[in-house]
Amino acid sequence: MPEQVVKQRSRGFICINAHPEGCARNVERQIEVVKSRRAGQTAGPRSALVIGSSTGYGLASRVALAWGFGAKTAGVFFERPPDDRKTASAGYYNTAAFDRFARQDSLYAAHLNGDAFSDEIKHQTTGLIRREMGKVDLVIYSLASPRRTHPKTGETLNSVLKPIGASYSGKTVDFGNGNVTEVTVEPATRDEIAATVAVMGGEDWRMWIDLLLDDNLLAEGARTLAYSYIGPELTWPIYRDGTIGAAKNNLAETARALNKTLQSKIGGNAWVSVNKGVVTQASAAIPVVPLYISLLFRVMKGKNMHEGCIEQMRRLAFDHLAAGATGRRDENDLIRLDDLEMRDDVQSAVRQLWPQVTTENLGELSDIAGFRRDFNQLFGFDVEGIDYDAPVETDVPPLSALAPPA
Ligand code: NAD
Repeated sequence: MPEQVVKQRSRGFICINAHPEGCARNVERQIEVVKSRRAGQTAGPRSALVIGSSTGYGLASRVALAWGFGAKTAGVFFERPPDDRKTASAGYYNTAAFDRFARQDSLYAAHLNGDAFSDEIKHQTTGLIRREMGKVDLVIYSLASPRRTHPKTGETLNSVLKPIGASYSGKTVDFGNGNVTEVTVEPATRDEIAATVAVMGGEDWRMWIDLLLDDNLLAEGARTLAYSYIGPELTWPIYRDGTIGAAKNNLAETARALNKTLQSKIGGNAWVSVNKGVVTQASAAIPVVPLYISLLFRVMKGKNMHEGCIEQMRRLAFDHLAAGATGRRDENDLIRLDDLEMRDDVQSAVRQLWPQVTTENLGELSDIAGFRRDFNQLFGFDVEGIDYDAPVETDVPPLSALAPPA
């Protein structure tokens, strides 16, 4: 495809194109963040499978493992390649950049683009691990998906972001135009709750781990982690106590069951890590949450303790996954990377701002500008140092054809 100028095109809370160089620069910055802290001097996981590896927390996990410990990584994701008319999706360009930087640094990286919920992709992945990696000692499960076609029944289930039991009215922001409004979200039906648990709960995670165990592809002492969120009370009706919270409870139950299985079979562990609220394609779609995150960013930046995905995943890697790390878990056996977000002084500052914020004072009371910049950057736009008037090559080689380095 000839080079072209790529300008951001948005529809609602989604951006429908992506800038390859902006995405590459984002990945490069994440690598720099990891390298800036003891990278390469610490032993840790040597061989990891990351499911949901192309954006958000999964991408940052993969970067932290590869550049933090020199780990070989296999990444599974579902992203659109470029074609004659459209750019690729951001996760596709992120992965192409990850691959390029990994090769430069002689790090093994393999990529599987397809539906992680399907038996086909699971078997392709186990085939690849067997052929090229031997066994893995870490499995990160970081999928965020609006739907899942169940591999046994063929039924397609859609997840919803709704309260349970009663309707919920609360403040929200349209971060495109900055309007702060009151939204009312009707409660989920029983079927919607069940479908959300089926999509975002632990069943698929368990299927992956069962298959890897059956195929003897988990090293002795291997660990697996999935990610969750709790957040403050003001988001609970829509998050913790809503359909997504029901799915996350199911994920935590799955972790407890998997932990027992892994301990008895290979001396391994399964944990859930509760991460802080950040701007990702998944979180931008949740009502109420973007307004909360904009206020949170303002408070945490004011206290000089702001973290994005990569700072969180660097902490996870070095404090919890490195050899000899003494990372703590709470009384529910959860890794709490949201400790700073949930600190009393942070939450009370957000609680004070919450009733005051309006369309008129949004720019002053919240970090909506930071939220928007992070959102644009998810797609490679608004990235420092990129000339958005210059034509760029939007075609990249098919990721499946990128053979891992020998
Ligand atoms: P994201 O949208 O940035 O990433 C989702 C990933 O899943 C992408 O790599 C995408 O390609 C992949 N994916 C989606 N459907 C797929 C499919 N069918 N097959 C293969 N890959 C598929 O999301 P995120 O916000 O990084 O979320 C990852 C996890 O972190 C989720 O469990 C989420 O609940 C959790 N989490 C997010 C936040 C937050 O603020 N964003 C906070 C705490 C925890």
